[in-house]
Amino acid sequence: MPTYVVLLGPPGAGKGTQAQIISKTMDLPHISSGDIFRENMKNQTELGRQAKGYMDRGELVPDDLTIAMIRERLSRPDCARGALLDGFPRTPPQAQALDGMLAEFNGRVNAVPYIKVSENVLIERLTGRWTCRAQGHVFHEKFNPPEKPGVCDYDGSELYQRDDDKAETVANRIKVYFAQTMPLIDYYQKAGLLIEVDGAQPIEKVTADLLEALQART
Ligand code: ADP
Ligand code: ADP
Repeated sequence: MPTYVVLLGPPGAGKGTQAQIISKTMDLPHISSGDIFRENMKNQTELGRQAKGYMDRGELVPDDLTIAMIRERLSRPDCARGALLDGFPRTPPQAQALDGMLAEFNGRVNAVPYIKVSENVLIERLTGRWTCRAQGHVFHEKFNPPEKPGVCDYDGSELYQRDDDKAETVANRIKVYFAQTMPLIDYYQKAGLLIEVDGAQPIEKVTADLLEALQART
């Protein structure tokens, strides 16, 4: 049976950072909905054009577009053994759609680590985040600096600051998270899948806690 792990947590909690590391350890592809939207924007596809306004405002892209995009991605051969989902689902209808599509793929959500971080920490993390142009690797100017400023350690591409990591948009994204994504914590808790991890710890310690919890469940 394939293994599907959903990483939950507010923007800036460290989902992408941890997914980058544990996808290698677990040998599962890292599927980031935000990265796929940004890739589509860069390539000026129809989906990218439709998503852009929502992303610029820090709002969620409509469920139908997002669900269709993830379904297409999870149907590809590299996801045959499962996937590590980062940034999807983000609303209750997305979570229900995910349950339905994974049943079609003869799988289910196996575990949902919830990376918990307080709101004041998130703003500092997001406004200091630097992202790589080629593959979306993330760094932080203070907490996780690249070896060479402005250059990605993994693939040598240029690092940039995302438009939606500006202070004004960050505040809206956190608000949207509380309104639309928080209900998923309850959804997965009731399903017995939620694993709470303290995301305020150093990156390596969060990774160790995540792997320990996941090894017991997957
Ligand atoms: P998310 O994918 O949940 O939005 P990221 O993984 O992109 O979060 O992390 C947000 C920012 O915080 C990045 O700049 C990252 O380098 C930094 N970061 C991630 N985890 C930690 C941590 N445990 N401690 C300090 N900074 C972190
Ligand atoms: P972060 O890592 O900081 O949480 P993401 O890269 O996951 O940010 O998401 C950036 C933006 O992409 C979101 O603000 C939203 O506009 C869009 N997006 C990403 N995932 C989803 C989703 N599952 N549903 C709707 N919109 C999404």
